[in-house]
Amino acid sequence: MTRLLIAGAGIAGLTLGHALMKHAPEVEFTILERAPEMRAAGAGIILAPNVTPLLEDLGMGKQLQASGQELPFNQLTDARGRVLQRLPGPAGQLLAFHRAELMHILQEGLTPHLQFGKGVHSHQQTSGQVKVLLDSGEHMEVDALVGADGLRSNVRAHCGGAKPIYSGYTSWRAVLEQAPGLPGASEMWGHGRRLGLVPLTGNRMYVYMTLNAPPSSTHHPVLPDLFREFRGAEHGILDRLSSAFPLIHTDIYELPRPDWGKGRVMLIGDAAHALTPNLGQGAGMGIEDAVLLARLLGQHRNFSLAFGLFRAQRQKRVSQVQLASRLIGRVGQLQHSLWVRVRDLLMSTGPKESVPGWLWNPAFPLQDHQT
Ligand SMILES: Cc1cc2nc3c(=O)[nH]c(=O)nc-3n(C[C@H](O)[C@H](O)[C@H](O)COP(=O)(O)OP(=O)(O)OC[C@H]3O[C@@H](n4cnc5c(N)ncnc54)[C@H](O)[C@@H]3O)c2cc1C
Repeated sequence: MTRLLIAGAGIAGLTLGHALMKHAPEVEFTILERAPEMRAAGAGIILAPNVTPLLEDLGMGKQLQASGQELPFNQLTDARGRVLQRLPGPAGQLLAFHRAELMHILQEGLTPHLQFGKGVHSHQQTSGQVKVLLDSGEHMEVDALVGADGLRSNVRAHCGGAKPIYSGYTSWRAVLEQAPGLPGASEMWGHGRRLGLVPLTGNRMYVYMTLNAPPSSTHHPVLPDLFREFRGAEHGILDRLSSAFPLIHTDIYELPRPDWGKGRVMLIGDAAHALTPNLGQGAGMGIEDAVLLARLLGQHRNFSLAFGLFRAQRQKRVSQVQLASRLIGRVGQLQHSLWVRVRDLLMSTGPKESVPGWLWNPAFPLQDHQT
C-alpha cells in the first residue's frame, strides 16, 4: 500500500481522487483542503469536449448532463455582434456549469478521503518519503505529495518553483437571470475588452468581462460605461450588472511554463501550469493531468517511474494549450482601433466554422493504455 497526500480540493485535486479510486485503488490517498468548507460561490465554467468524456468515464456522466447546460456552439463576434468564428459543440460534450454545482458533483463520493480546514504549509523530501508540515503544526509522513493547490501553490513555492506573471488584463464574472435569445456561448471582442455570455441551466446565464488594466484596478461602479461599445449586442445585461451578486473580480495571471515539481512531489492543475482563461481550458488541463496521473500510478506501482512518465507525457500538450491561450488573449485584447479593424476583417473573411481537433480531441485514449 502506498500513501499519497493531495494538497487542494479544487477541480484538479478532486478529479485526482476519483481517478485514483478507479485506476489505482491500491493507492491510499487523502485530500487536504485549506478552506474550512467547500465554497458555494463562483460564477460559470465551461467544460470542453476533451474533458467531459474523462469525467463521464469516472462515473459522473448523469450528474454532469443534469447540471450542465449543453452549448450547441461557442462563438466569437465583433463588438456589434457580427459572428467572426463559430465552434459547433459536439452533442452533449460542450457543457456550461455554475461553478459551485460542478464542485458539488466532483466532491460527491470523496468524503472519507477529504479533510477541510487543513492547509499544507511546507514539506521536506527524504530518500523514500515526504515529510509534510501542516498550517496547524501537525506533521504527516507520506510516500508522495501532489500539489493541486492552485495558482499561488505553496507546494510549488517550497520546490523553488516559478512565480505567476500578470497577463495585462483583469476580469469580472457573475451569474444573472438569463436574457431571452441566448442559444449558445458568445464572446464579443472590442477594444482592449471582451464580454462573454453563456447560458446556464435554471434560466441563468454566466457573464464575464475582461479589460486591459494594471493589476488590482477597481472599476466596479463604472463597468456598464467601460463596456458601452457592446451596447446593442449584449441583450441588455450591462444595466443589470449592478444587481449581480457576487460580482467576482479576478486579475488574470499565468505561469509562464509548466512546472511539475521535483522527486516525490508532483504538481498538477493550476499549481503546475495556470493558464489564461481564453480557451476555457484551465480546469480542462487539470482534469487531463489528474486522469493520466492516476492511470500511470495504477499501471506502474512506483512513484518515481509514474511521475517521470507523467511529466514527459504532459509537457508538450500543456505547453501547446498554454501558448495558444496566451496568443488568443493577446489578439482578443487588442486595443488600438486600427489593429481591431484588421483583426475583425481577417477573422470575418476566414473560415467561420471550425472544430479545433487538436484541442478538443481527448489528449489520450479514454481507456487504460499500456505505456
Ligand atoms: C475568469 C476565469 C474563467 C475561467 N474559465 C474557465 C473555463 O471556462 N473552463 C476551464 O476549463 N477553466 C476555466 N478557468 C480556469 C479554472 O478556473 C482553473 O484552471 C481551475 O479552477 C484550477 O483548478 P485547480 O484545482 O488546479 O486549482 P484551484 O481551483 O485554485 O484549487 C486549489 C485548491 O487548493 C486549496 N489550497 C490552496 N493552498 C492550499 C494549501 N497550502 N493546502 C491545502 N489546500 C490549499 C484552495 O483553497 C483551492 O480549493 C477560468 C479561470 C478564470 C480566472
